[in-house]
Amino acid sequence: MTDQYDIAIIGGGPVGAALALALRDSPLRVCVLEARPANTASVDARALALSYGSRLLLERLGVWHELRDVSAIRTIHISQKQSFGRALLRAAELNVPELGYVLPYPALQDALTNALKTSAVKTIYGANVTQLKDESDHSVICYQCDGTEHTLHTRLAVVADGGKLLAQQYPPEVSDYGQSALIAHITSAAPQANTAFERFTMQGPVALLPFQDGYELVWTAPHQRAQEMLTWDDAQFLQELHNHFGDRVGEFLTTGKRSCFPLGLKRAPNLTPMPHTVLLGNAAQTMHPVAGQGFNMGLRDAWELAQEILDAAPETLGTDTMLAAYRSQRRTDREAGIRFTDGLVRMFSNDLPLVSAGRAAALSALDCLPLAKKFVAKRMMFGANG
Ligand SMILES: Cc1cc2nc3c(=O)[nH]c(=O)nc-3n(C[C@H](O)[C@H](O)[C@H](O)COP(=O)(O)OP(=O)(O)OC[C@H]3O[C@@H](n4cnc5c(N)ncnc54)[C@H](O)[C@@H]3O)c2cc1C
Repeated sequence: MTDQYDIAIIGGGPVGAALALALRDSPLRVCVLEARPANTASVDARALALSYGSRLLLERLGVWHELRDVSAIRTIHISQKQSFGRALLRAAELNVPELGYVLPYPALQDALTNALKTSAVKTIYGANVTQLKDESDHSVICYQCDGTEHTLHTRLAVVADGGKLLAQQYPPEVSDYGQSALIAHITSAAPQANTAFERFTMQGPVALLPFQDGYELVWTAPHQRAQEMLTWDDAQFLQELHNHFGDRVGEFLTTGKRSCFPLGLKRAPNLTPMPHTVLLGNAAQTMHPVAGQGFNMGLRDAWELAQEILDAAPETLGTDTMLAAYRSQRRTDREAGIRFTDGLVRMFSNDLPLVSAGRAAALSALDCLPLAKKFVAKRMMFGANG
């Protein structure tokens, strides 16, 4: 027998799980297919900076208060290496209690997974989706689970798999920045409580996100250099980081395990590439982590798709009309988020003297102009539709 659902979500990562939770109280039959086996903790090493806007959405999903290990960001310090000019964004000036939060990816994933367990959503773990096909009025999903082939029919297939399943059939537009991100938990002699640092350098940006006794480091560098940085012993790594980042938080004292992620911009040209199908989260757009936009944007994708589904007449689920309405709803926020992130990477990776002076002036202007500051902070916290 073939299973039938109203909505099937391919990928129970943070974005797919958030969509499922947003739909859990509806009468719709919702299913999540996740490749990870059941009851296995995520081992992803990355930390995520969540915006204040994401906190509000996670509260609505009933997940926020279940999150452990969250550190608040109340100040963001933005600067560029070997140049004057810096900007400070402070929560108090912007009338919000916090600008954002830092937490490990597995902590977020666990909280969402636990919330799903107590819902009516059917979640199938160990389900590796291999094919998505269109049939006249629905989609057909083929997946492998426990060594067996399964098939499922759905009125709407939501692809939230991070971007692999349809990449060959519908290739994304790709900008390779030639950079990787090296990440690690580090401690320093003079940490500044609740302050995040974003420092732009010719090699790429370096971010220190306040977390527990130290910082989650995101150090961007050309691929080969990043691989080399993985081979340094701890003492050399901490010294090189100090040389690169400067003395704002004192000497660096310890480093945890280091991991590396290749970076680039991948953007699906069409959010709904086939009938009855929509791309969500990283499957729709994978961005450079410089502005901490990836999950925050994906969560807004999930929330707005859920509202579109809940507001639509039941018979329109998965139709061209419904998918066109979703595309139009997401256009401005998505394009603005991609442009903002891509623009930051490009603007701060250019070493022409005039461009460097322009950047310094822009940072100083941002620091002095309350309206400009509010605009940037609001975009980072709530996106362009906020
Ligand atoms: C170094 C780094 C730092 C980052 N920092 C930030 C930050 O500070 N703030 C922020 O907002 N974003 C950040 N991001 C981006 C953020 O991690 C992503 O945007 C987010 O994880 C996307 O979630 P997702 O659910 O769309 O995809 P994923 O997290 O990739 O999850 C996809 C899920 O789908 C499952 N899956 C895959 N293929 C299949 C299949 N065939 N069948 C079934 N299931 C499948 C996977 O097992 C996984 O659980 C960062 C990214 C990197 C690399």
